[in-house]
Amino acid sequence: MIRKNLVKCLACVMIMIFVLGCQASAEVSSSTLILVNKENALPSNYTPDDLVTCDVPFAPGVIESRKLMRREAAEALAAMFEAASKDGFELLGISGFRSYQTQRELYQAGLERNGLEHVTMYVAQAGRSEHQTGLAMDLGIEGYTDLTEDFAETDAYVWLTKHAHEYGFIIRYTKKGVRETGYAFEPWHMRYLGVETATDVWKSGLTLEAWYRQQLKGTTLKAQYAFLSTQVDS
Ligand SMILES: [Zn+2]
Repeated sequence: MIRKNLVKCLACVMIMIFVLGCQASAEVSSSTLILVNKENALPSNYTPDDLVTCDVPFAPGVIESRKLMRREAAEALAAMFEAASKDGFELLGISGFRSYQTQRELYQAGLERNGLEHVTMYVAQAGRSEHQTGLAMDLGIEGYTDLTEDFAETDAYVWLTKHAHEYGFIIRYTKKGVRETGYAFEPWHMRYLGVETATDVWKSGLTLEAWYRQQLKGTTLKAQYAFLSTQVDS
Protein backbone atom coordinates (compact mmCIF):
# COMPACT_ATOMS: atom_id res chain seq x y z
CA MET A 1 0.00 0.00 0.00
CA ILE A 2 2.72 2.45 0.97
CA ARG A 3 4.65 1.46 -2.15
CA LYS A 4 1.56 2.04 -4.30
CA ASN A 5 1.07 5.50 -2.84
CA LEU A 6 4.71 6.31 -3.36
CA VAL A 7 4.48 5.39 -7.05
CA LYS A 8 1.31 7.50 -7.35
CA CYS A 9 3.06 10.41 -5.69
CA LEU A 10 6.10 10.12 -7.93
CA ALA A 11 3.88 9.98 -11.01
CA CYS A 12 2.18 13.19 -9.87
CA VAL A 13 5.54 14.90 -9.45
CA MET A 14 6.68 13.75 -12.89
CA ILE A 15 3.48 15.09 -14.50
CA MET A 16 3.91 18.39 -12.68
CA ILE A 17 7.51 18.68 -13.84
CA PHE A 18 6.40 17.92 -17.40
CA VAL A 19 3.61 20.50 -17.30
CA LEU A 20 5.80 23.16 -15.72
CA GLY A 21 8.52 22.36 -18.23
CA CYS A 22 6.11 22.82 -21.13
CA GLN A 23 4.96 26.14 -19.74
CA ALA A 24 8.53 27.34 -19.28
CA SER A 25 9.51 26.45 -22.82
CA ALA A 26 6.45 28.17 -24.25
CA GLU A 27 7.10 31.37 -22.35
CA VAL A 28 9.68 33.58 -24.00
CA SER A 29 10.72 36.85 -22.48
CA SER A 30 9.62 39.94 -24.33
CA SER A 31 12.60 41.77 -22.86
CA THR A 32 15.01 43.25 -25.37
CA LEU A 33 17.75 41.83 -23.13
CA ILE A 34 16.92 38.22 -23.94
CA LEU A 35 20.04 36.10 -24.33
CA VAL A 36 20.01 33.63 -27.20
CA ASN A 37 23.17 31.73 -27.94
CA LYS A 38 24.60 28.24 -28.32
CA GLU A 39 23.37 27.36 -24.80
CA ASN A 40 20.05 29.16 -24.70
CA ALA A 41 17.60 28.30 -27.44
CA LEU A 42 14.21 29.67 -28.41
CA PRO A 43 11.25 27.32 -28.95
CA SER A 44 10.58 26.36 -32.57
CA ASN A 45 7.20 28.07 -32.53
CA TYR A 46 8.48 31.42 -31.25
CA THR A 47 7.87 34.48 -33.40
CA PRO A 48 7.85 37.94 -31.80
CA ASP A 49 4.39 39.50 -31.95
CA ASP A 50 5.56 43.04 -32.73
CA LEU A 51 7.56 42.58 -35.94
CA VAL A 52 7.49 45.49 -38.38
CA THR A 53 9.30 46.23 -41.64
CA CYS A 54 12.38 48.37 -41.01
CA ASP A 55 12.14 51.73 -42.71
CA VAL A 56 15.76 51.75 -43.94
CA PRO A 57 17.49 51.12 -47.28
CA PHE A 58 18.25 47.46 -47.94
CA ALA A 59 20.82 45.79 -50.16
CA PRO A 60 19.45 44.81 -53.59
CA GLY A 61 17.54 41.54 -53.60
CA VAL A 62 16.70 41.40 -49.89
CA ILE A 63 13.29 39.75 -49.59
CA GLU A 64 10.52 41.40 -47.55
CA SER A 65 10.50 38.74 -44.84
CA ARG A 66 14.13 39.54 -44.00
CA LYS A 67 13.38 43.25 -43.49
CA LEU A 68 11.56 42.71 -40.20
CA MET A 69 12.58 43.56 -36.64
CA ARG A 70 10.65 44.10 -33.43
CA ARG A 71 9.13 47.57 -33.46
CA GLU A 72 11.46 49.15 -30.87
CA ALA A 73 14.55 47.77 -32.62
CA ALA A 74 13.28 48.78 -36.06
CA GLU A 75 12.77 52.37 -34.91
CA ALA A 76 16.24 52.46 -33.35
CA LEU A 77 17.74 51.01 -36.53
CA ALA A 78 16.13 53.74 -38.63
CA ALA A 79 17.54 56.40 -36.28
CA MET A 80 21.00 54.84 -36.50
CA PHE A 81 20.91 54.65 -40.31
CA GLU A 82 19.84 58.30 -40.45
CA ALA A 83 22.67 59.40 -38.15
CA ALA A 84 25.20 57.37 -40.15
CA SER A 85 23.90 58.92 -43.35
CA LYS A 86 24.35 62.43 -41.91
CA ASP A 87 27.98 61.48 -41.26
CA GLY A 88 28.37 60.24 -44.83
CA PHE A 89 27.78 56.49 -44.44
CA GLU A 90 24.89 54.92 -46.32
CA LEU A 91 24.23 51.73 -44.40
CA LEU A 92 22.23 48.93 -46.01
CA GLY A 93 20.16 46.33 -44.21
CA ILE A 94 20.80 42.74 -45.26
CA SER A 95 19.07 40.32 -42.91
CA GLY A 96 16.80 40.96 -39.93
CA PHE A 97 14.26 38.54 -38.48
CA ARG A 98 14.58 34.90 -39.48
CA SER A 99 12.11 32.24 -38.42
CA TYR A 100 13.14 28.94 -36.82
CA GLN A 101 12.37 27.19 -40.10
CA THR A 102 14.39 29.66 -42.19
CA GLN A 103 17.33 29.29 -39.82
CA ARG A 104 17.09 25.52 -40.05
CA GLU A 105 17.27 25.68 -43.84
CA LEU A 106 20.15 28.15 -43.69
CA TYR A 107 22.10 25.91 -41.30
CA GLN A 108 21.48 22.84 -43.43
CA ALA A 109 22.51 24.63 -46.64
CA GLY A 110 25.66 25.97 -44.94
CA LEU A 111 26.50 22.55 -43.62
CA GLU A 112 26.23 20.99 -47.07
CA ARG A 113 28.15 23.79 -48.77
CA ASN A 114 30.91 24.55 -46.25
CA GLY A 115 31.08 21.69 -43.76
CA LEU A 116 30.62 21.45 -40.00
CA GLU A 117 33.66 23.45 -38.88
CA HIS A 118 32.68 26.51 -40.91
CA VAL A 119 28.99 26.32 -40.12
CA THR A 120 29.68 26.01 -36.38
CA MET A 121 31.56 29.31 -36.40
CA TYR A 122 29.25 31.24 -38.73
CA VAL A 123 25.71 29.88 -38.69
CA ALA A 124 23.55 29.34 -35.63
CA GLN A 125 21.43 26.24 -35.36
CA ALA A 126 17.67 26.73 -35.49
CA GLY A 127 16.42 28.18 -32.21
CA ARG A 128 19.88 29.46 -31.33
CA SER A 129 20.01 32.42 -33.67
CA GLU A 130 19.56 35.98 -32.45
CA HIS A 131 17.79 36.65 -35.73
CA GLN A 132 14.77 34.71 -34.40
CA THR A 133 14.43 37.29 -31.60
CA GLY A 134 13.73 40.09 -34.09
CA LEU A 135 16.45 42.09 -32.34
CA ALA A 136 19.32 41.51 -34.77
CA MET A 137 20.21 42.96 -38.15
CA ASP A 138 23.06 42.12 -40.47
CA LEU A 139 24.15 45.20 -42.37
CA GLY A 140 26.77 46.59 -44.72
CA ILE A 141 27.41 49.35 -47.24
CA GLU A 142 27.54 49.32 -51.02
CA GLY A 143 30.32 46.97 -52.13
CA TYR A 144 30.30 45.27 -48.71
CA THR A 145 27.05 43.38 -48.55
CA ASP A 146 28.43 39.84 -48.73
CA LEU A 147 28.85 39.49 -44.94
CA THR A 148 32.61 39.10 -44.87
CA GLU A 149 35.24 40.45 -42.49
CA ASP A 150 36.23 43.01 -45.15
CA PHE A 151 33.43 45.20 -43.82
CA ALA A 152 35.57 45.79 -40.72
CA GLU A 153 38.08 47.67 -42.90
CA THR A 154 35.55 50.35 -43.83
CA ASP A 155 35.03 53.75 -42.20
CA ALA A 156 31.35 52.85 -41.87
CA TYR A 157 32.31 50.02 -39.54
CA VAL A 158 34.55 52.34 -37.53
CA TRP A 159 31.57 54.68 -37.23
CA LEU A 160 29.47 51.80 -35.89
CA THR A 161 32.10 50.88 -33.30
CA LYS A 162 31.86 54.45 -31.98
CA HIS A 163 28.14 55.17 -32.33
CA ALA A 164 25.99 52.01 -32.54
CA HIS A 165 25.45 51.98 -28.75
CA GLU A 166 23.99 55.48 -28.91
CA TYR A 167 21.07 53.90 -30.77
CA GLY A 168 20.89 50.80 -28.59
CA PHE A 169 22.99 48.41 -30.67
CA ILE A 170 26.15 46.44 -30.02
CA ILE A 171 28.45 44.62 -32.42
CA ARG A 172 27.60 41.25 -31.00
CA TYR A 173 30.39 39.00 -32.28
CA THR A 174 33.69 40.79 -31.86
CA LYS A 175 37.17 39.68 -32.77
CA LYS A 176 38.26 39.29 -29.16
CA GLY A 177 34.97 37.67 -28.16
CA VAL A 178 35.29 34.59 -30.38
CA ARG A 179 36.10 32.23 -27.52
CA GLU A 180 33.25 33.56 -25.40
CA THR A 181 30.56 33.63 -28.05
CA GLY A 182 31.65 30.59 -30.04
CA TYR A 183 31.19 32.57 -33.25
CA ALA A 184 33.67 34.09 -35.67
CA PHE A 185 34.13 37.86 -35.85
CA GLU A 186 30.99 39.22 -37.51
CA PRO A 187 31.40 42.97 -37.99
CA TRP A 188 28.02 43.06 -39.79
CA HIS A 189 25.83 41.61 -37.02
CA MET A 190 24.13 44.26 -34.86
CA ARG A 191 22.11 43.34 -31.79
CA TYR A 192 19.57 45.67 -30.22
CA LEU A 193 19.62 45.94 -26.42
CA GLY A 194 18.30 49.45 -25.83
CA VAL A 195 20.51 52.50 -25.33
CA GLU A 196 21.20 52.06 -21.63
CA THR A 197 22.30 48.43 -21.79
CA ALA A 198 24.09 48.73 -25.13
CA THR A 199 26.09 51.64 -23.71
CA ASP A 200 26.89 49.66 -20.59
CA VAL A 201 28.04 46.62 -22.59
CA TRP A 202 30.02 48.86 -24.98
CA LYS A 203 31.76 50.61 -22.08
CA SER A 204 32.57 47.28 -20.43
CA GLY A 205 34.21 45.93 -23.57
CA LEU A 206 32.73 42.53 -22.70
CA THR A 207 30.76 40.08 -24.81
CA LEU A 208 27.07 39.94 -23.97
CA GLU A 209 27.68 36.55 -22.31
CA ALA A 210 30.41 37.94 -20.03
CA TRP A 211 28.40 41.07 -19.31
CA TYR A 212 25.44 38.91 -18.25
CA ARG A 213 27.64 36.84 -15.98
CA GLN A 214 28.96 39.99 -14.37
CA GLN A 215 25.43 41.34 -13.88
CA LEU A 216 24.15 38.11 -12.39
CA LYS A 217 27.30 37.58 -10.34
CA GLY A 218 27.48 33.88 -11.09
CA THR A 219 24.21 32.90 -9.47
CA THR A 220 23.54 29.79 -11.51
CA LEU A 221 19.86 29.45 -10.76
CA LYS A 222 19.11 33.10 -11.34
CA ALA A 223 21.23 33.04 -14.46
CA GLN A 224 19.40 30.06 -15.94
CA TYR A 225 16.07 31.61 -15.14
CA ALA A 226 17.02 34.91 -16.65
CA PHE A 227 18.63 33.47 -19.74
CA LEU A 228 15.73 31.29 -20.65
CA SER A 229 12.56 33.17 -20.29
CA THR A 230 12.48 36.03 -17.88
CA GLN A 231 12.80 39.75 -17.86
CA VAL A 232 16.22 40.78 -16.57
CA ASP A 233 16.51 44.15 -14.91
CA SER A 234 19.79 45.77 -15.79
ZN1 LIG B 1 23.57 38.03 -38.12
